[in-house]
Amino acid sequence: VLKELSTDLLIIGAGPGGYVAAIYAAKNKLKVTLVEKSEMGGTCLNVGCIPTKALVKSAEVCHNLNHASLFGMEVEGKIAVNMKQVIERKDKVKNRLISGIDFLMKKNDINVIKGQAAFVNQDTVAVTGNENFIIKANDIIVATGSKISKIAIPGMDLPFVWNSTTALSNTELPKSISIIGGGVIGMEFAFIYKNFGVEVHVIEFMDRLLTMVDRDISNEIQNIAEEEGIKIHTGSKVMKIQSSVDGKAVITYEDKTGEHLLVSDNVLAAIGREPDLDGLSIEKSGVTLNSKGKGIQVDASMRTNISHIYAIGDVTNIIQLAHVASHQGIVAVDNILKKQEVMEYSSVPNVIFTVPEIASVGIGEKEAKEKGMNVSVSKFSFAGNGKALTMNEPRGFIKLVKNNETSKIIGGSIIGADASALISSLTLAIANGFTEKEITKTIFSHPTTGEVIHEAALEFGIGALHQ
Ligand code: FAD
Repeated sequence: VLKELSTDLLIIGAGPGGYVAAIYAAKNKLKVTLVEKSEMGGTCLNVGCIPTKALVKSAEVCHNLNHASLFGMEVEGKIAVNMKQVIERKDKVKNRLISGIDFLMKKNDINVIKGQAAFVNQDTVAVTGNENFIIKANDIIVATGSKISKIAIPGMDLPFVWNSTTALSNTELPKSISIIGGGVIGMEFAFIYKNFGVEVHVIEFMDRLLTMVDRDISNEIQNIAEEEGIKIHTGSKVMKIQSSVDGKAVITYEDKTGEHLLVSDNVLAAIGREPDLDGLSIEKSGVTLNSKGKGIQVDASMRTNISHIYAIGDVTNIIQLAHVASHQGIVAVDNILKKQEVMEYSSVPNVIFTVPEIASVGIGEKEAKEKGMNVSVSKFSFAGNGKALTMNEPRGFIKLVKNNETSKIIGGSIIGADASALISSLTLAIANGFTEKEITKTIFSHPTTGEVIHEAALEFGIGALHQ
């Protein structure tokens, strides 16, 4: 049986883009139908942000126990990682959040339909699942997210080659792992495995890790990673993966000195994600894809070329971050409500959960200089921060970029303790056009890592007090 439904707003995909848009629309009195083919919460909650951060925490505990003497404690014997229990803990966190979303859907009277959505035409979507539906909607938001990209390296389909999704459910901890890709996902996993005591190699094609961050920051994380014993191979191209006679992974890679072999128990391919349009029959909607032919093309109001169809999140291929997807969802709903909001990307924070963490927001030093802007840069080291020392985390620094003409702080990058939390204050400052003075005259509590922001702002004028 085919059930027919009509709704004000149909949202396809219940990741951080789709489910947040659904709540926001429902709070604004729209009748909302949300279709999800898999688990609520999308990539972020099931195989992305949340599970990786649960593993980051378990790995941090393992690292601290192994270095208990640094905190004045003696731990007898070897710390044994029970990966099965680590994965179970991760699943517990994830499941608790999924129930939270289920609760919010009910509370906001959102009609959730489980099944695969496919366009029939501009206004109609068919859903195939336990029950089948034909849904007619006034407005549609496509929030189908992304999937793991495939690359044509011979041997990628060998059983010991993991991707981020399979790695997150694997209950065996390898003795050694080679990670292909020194981007965000690759580097987060590199520290996770290292802190669990695994031998880790990272192979990166570019000449540096984390090419999206300031070069000083990527140099610093490379130094720290190497100090921790992570082996970094930049400027290296993986040619093939083979299995040795005893079942180990043998990677052949090439750098400017020639060809090399790397042997490890497992390989983690962390080579990127691309928009997921599988089974969506997007061509029947008349929606145009972007120039790369991969994501859905949208304007600043998140509208596609079809005026009542919007797209948000990873499927637009603009920025692959959960909070961007959520905010784009709110902008799309505002436009459906005729509020004419536009998406503004100049102060989107970006966090990388390495150890220490990395976070940045606004314009970087290089970008500002390339644009010919009159800027100055200040720097303050965590070694001069009392709280960081109590945490045994003296590594890292903060860098601020100031527009000399307006005195406004326009960018900031942090590598150091609590960077993921500190970036919120900096984002507030940058998004609201705070000047150097507005930061220096603000009182920051002591002892907190947040004081590095104050110190870096002082560094533009009289100089930081503790450096
Ligand atoms: P998704 O979360 O991908 O959700 C899309 C949903 O649509 C899925 O549930 C899918 O099943 C459903 N769907 C697809 N097609 C259909 C269809 N035809 N019918 C019905 N349903 C459909 N971002 C951060 O901001 N911070 C992090 O720390 C972070 N860590 C990450 C770690 C990893 C390992 C990975 C892989 C990603 C990470 N990300 C992180 C990125 C983040 O997960 C994504 O940017 C975010 O999930 C995008 O949200 P979305 O709503 O656009 O799509």
